[in-house]
Amino acid sequence: MIVRAGVFYDGTLASPRHNVDIEIDGGAVVAIRHAAEGARCDRSAACVTPGLVNAHVHLEMSGEADTMGALALLTPNQRMIRAIENAAKTLRAGVTTVRDLGCTNAIAIDIRDGIEQGRIPGPRMRASGPLLCMTGGHGWFAGRAIDSPWDARKGVRENMWAGADCIKVVATGGVLTKGAVPGNAQLLPEELEAAIHEAHRHRLRVAAHAIGTEGIKNALRAGIDSIEHGHMLDDEAIELFKATGAYLVPTLTAPVCILEHLHDGGQPEFVIRKAEVVNEAMQRNIRRAYESGVKIAGGSDAGTPFNYHESYAYELELMHTLLGMSPHEALHAATAVAADLIGLHRGILGEGEPADMLLLERDIAEDIRVLRTPVAVMKGGAFVRTSDAR
Ligand SMILES: [Zn+2]
Repeated sequence: MIVRAGVFYDGTLASPRHNVDIEIDGGAVVAIRHAAEGARCDRSAACVTPGLVNAHVHLEMSGEADTMGALALLTPNQRMIRAIENAAKTLRAGVTTVRDLGCTNAIAIDIRDGIEQGRIPGPRMRASGPLLCMTGGHGWFAGRAIDSPWDARKGVRENMWAGADCIKVVATGGVLTKGAVPGNAQLLPEELEAAIHEAHRHRLRVAAHAIGTEGIKNALRAGIDSIEHGHMLDDEAIELFKATGAYLVPTLTAPVCILEHLHDGGQPEFVIRKAEVVNEAMQRNIRRAYESGVKIAGGSDAGTPFNYHESYAYELELMHTLLGMSPHEALHAATAVAADLIGLHRGILGEGEPADMLLLERDIAEDIRVLRTPVAVMKGGAFVRTSDAR
């Protein structure tokens, strides 16, 4: 099969190419070349990009206004049905790879395997299984408590046993858990160090939920691979990011979606109050981190209030408007950089790479919002969604 691109972005920061043919065979890209005059092609689009990579999702959550309430009311079977539904929505929207960072019962691990086995449609996946938090800490309703360095090691081992291929730890409070203060550190440095050491021994990468300044620095000093949120980072944290090479996944949509839906009803008052504080810090700090050279990987925390799995394009729009990234740079953060962090594939379109791509009706440089409505989505060489337009 040959897909012809008017403008072609490969996921790197290399200049986009014009009038390019992408040849696909056996699920992979086998050649990329300038389209010869009169050559045949099977499908064409004004713009072609790699499939998007969302480094932070929660597939069993569907953007309900009250996360804790919804999870408390749903049975494990009902949560599994939602995760299956959200995996399909994710893929149809053009997100061909995700990392699930926290679920109940190991649901996301089973979803990952079901997709790999071809039983259900969905993106390529990594899954952390239940997150590791302190007793009563942020996210306890989707996690396992660890209360000492040895317990931290045991938590990592239990998640590996369940099939996790990455680990999530909770370094600070968070917005969606009643009573957890986002600015306060939670897991201790020694607990973080033990969890990270144990995970790295087994070649698993570790992501830390961290909003408060002290917790961000605790996790970075302990050798974390990525900071999720990171909204209250300071100059010292920026230096630690650069010294360690850790990634920042800023999940800009998470607080923004909460605050954009204040009047839709159903959100607990404590969520709104905390989101206001976090959003203010985010607006102040994340752009500075980006401009200082911290590696930013795309991830949206999809599943949190009004933050839908099929709306990942909004995160790229916010990277453009809030962080000052060009559409090309935002695409790079949400493809190659996020893929680099997840470690499944390279997130780029090149010879020998998986044929995961989006066909778009306009160049993203003209209007990044075109990513909201791909004309067609391909995963592994097969179209998973096409519109009639050609
Ligand atoms: Zn999350």
